[in-house]
Amino acid sequence: MSTVTIAPIAESLPAFLDAHNFSAIAVIVDNHTFRFCYPELKALLPKHTLVRIKAGEEQKHIATCELIWDALTRANFDRHALVLNLGGGVIGDMGGFCAATYKRGIAFAQIPTTLLAQVDASVGGKLGIDFNGFKNHIGVFKLPDAVLIEPHFLTTLPERELRSGFAEIIKHCLIADAAMWEEIRRRDLDEQDWPRLVAHSVAVKQRVVEQDPTEKGLRKILNFGHTIGHAVETYFLTQPRKRLLHGEAIAVGMITEAFIAFQKKMIDQSLLTATEEYIFSVYGNVKLNDEDIDPILALTLQDKKNRGRDVRMALLDGPGSCAFDVSVTSAEMRRGLDFYRGINKN
Ligand code: NAD
Ligand code: MG
Repeated sequence: MSTVTIAPIAESLPAFLDAHNFSAIAVIVDNHTFRFCYPELKALLPKHTLVRIKAGEEQKHIATCELIWDALTRANFDRHALVLNLGGGVIGDMGGFCAATYKRGIAFAQIPTTLLAQVDASVGGKLGIDFNGFKNHIGVFKLPDAVLIEPHFLTTLPERELRSGFAEIIKHCLIADAAMWEEIRRRDLDEQDWPRLVAHSVAVKQRVVEQDPTEKGLRKILNFGHTIGHAVETYFLTQPRKRLLHGEAIAVGMITEAFIAFQKKMIDQSLLTATEEYIFSVYGNVKLNDEDIDPILALTLQDKKNRGRDVRMALLDGPGSCAFDVSVTSAEMRRGLDFYRGINKN
């Protein structure tokens, strides 16, 4: 497992560079991390190549990779060079993919600057890009040479992005740590202790990924909330309505899937109620209409965890505990979504 360091970047980055002997360094940024995070990095680095791309998921495709590979090639990067990915999950996944494939793979380090990337995307070695409208369709598993987490990069992050990343923290607590779940659910978003929660989430994810790096079994528990959540997220992309951030869709997914677990008698009423009330208090209402339900259910068939047409979910089976590969029928999913819509009406 790669080392994850949570520390001021002014300490962690020079220490990482001193411990290696890279022939050249490239920094990949988007417009926002160029403005908010790169100035601090620049002051710590020797001569390097800066690759700046536009911000947003729409850039996470092969044409942007070509720009990155082209910049590395023009700067004559050899196989001893280093790529530093300074940004959220888009930069991390795509910059990592480019580094993992350039000349069959050069070193790269993730410097995650969103909460989502700090607690999730930068850990575990999944790299890739979107293709023909399918998310993360092309990619590889490769662990970074380092993950350098600078807590204060979160201070410039918009609150909506912070809330979105928090969904993965809630997920990590619900699937793996009942005591931490009890702790976070007593606090609002603005009262959370981010450095402590980031360290906790990284530890949970690393522990799971170490046991199952390529998602043959246990790693699937990290997908709690994501079968329904991804379907809702993808469905909203086809709608003229307001775009949903990933964590906002996962919040819908976690409530709906908690109800599915309750229906299957895997969790009791008190855990269902606590989950539903807390997540709803943080994320509020995502309005789902009658005509939205069939297309959302159809999209769950695309989930990467399924086998054939059988939808398999990661479902809570107790506080801080999660099962995987649980078969779920579309009637159960429909009742789960009805439950979610019922809360919205209150
Ligand atoms: P993102 O990279 O698009 O970042 C969100 C927004 O925040 C962008 O506009 C970005 O420019 C801006 N931003 C980044 N850091 C900032 C800062 N410090 N201050 C101000 N603004 C800042 O999105 P994300 O939510 O970080 O990541 C989503 C991506 O991560 C998706 O593509 C998803 O597929 C991927 N992902 C990957 C994994 C994995 O295991 N590899 C896991 C989860 C998600
Ligand atoms: Mg997720």
